[in-house]
Amino acid sequence: MAHSDMDGDSAQKIALVMELRSGGIDHKILSIIETMPREVFVPPLFRNRAYENAALPIASGQTISQPYIVAYMTQLLDLGPRMKVLEIGTGSGYQAAVLARLCRRVYTIERYRTLIRDAEMRFATLNIHNITTRFADGSKGWQEQAPFDRILMTAAAPEVPEALVDQLKDDGVLVGPIGPESAEQMIVRVRKTSTGILREDLMVTRFVPLVAGVAREV
Ligand code: SAH
Repeated sequence: MAHSDMDGDSAQKIALVMELRSGGIDHKILSIIETMPREVFVPPLFRNRAYENAALPIASGQTISQPYIVAYMTQLLDLGPRMKVLEIGTGSGYQAAVLARLCRRVYTIERYRTLIRDAEMRFATLNIHNITTRFADGSKGWQEQAPFDRILMTAAAPEVPEALVDQLKDDGVLVGPIGPESAEQMIVRVRKTSTGILREDLMVTRFVPLVAGVAREV
C-alpha cells in the first residue's frame, strides 16, 4: 500500500471513530472499530471508502452495513465474554468479526454461498477462530445450536421472526431491523422474559430484506 493511502486511511479512521463516539458508542466498541480492518471486508473498488460512515455494496447485490449501525447494534446487544451469539445475514462478515471480539462464539447464517465462502476466507486471514458459518435460511434460526444468549438480525423482517425468539435463552436479547421491505424500518431490541416479550423501538433505519430460502444464484 502506498504511503499516501495509509495516511488517508488513518485520517478517515480517526474521523469515523470521533463520529461514532459523539453518537454515543462506548470506548470498548470504538476500539474494536478502530482495529478491525474494514478494508478487508469491502470490495477492492471501494477500499478507499472503507472508513466512511456509509453502507457499501458487496457481492450478490447485498451491502456491508454502515459502521455506526454495526457499532450501535453491537452496543444494544450488551455482550459478555461467555455468550453464544447468533447472527442472521453474514454478508461480508464484518459485523460477525466485531461481535466475535466481545463474546465466546458467533454462529452466523447467510443465504448466498459466495458470501459465506468469502467471509470464511476473511476470518481465516484475520485469524478469527470463534465464528461458525452456515449456508442456510437464517429466518429459521439454528436449532442444533440453540438456545442463544443474543441474536442479531442484519436483514429486515416485517415482524420479529418467532423461530428466532424461540431460540433465545430466558432473559436473552434480540436486536434487528423490523418493518416493511420498501419503507422505513425500526431497529428494535426484544428481551425474552419469563412473563413475555419486551420490545423497544429504537431507531429508524433501512436494511436489505430478510428473504426466505437459500439463494440459487451465487
Ligand atoms: N452483517 C453483514 C450485513 C449483510 S446485509 C455485514 O456485516 O456485512 C444482510 C445479509 O443478510 C445479506 O448478505 C443477505 O443475503 C442476508 N440474508 C437475507 N435474508 C437471509 C436469510 N433468510 N438467511 C440468511 N441470510 C439472509
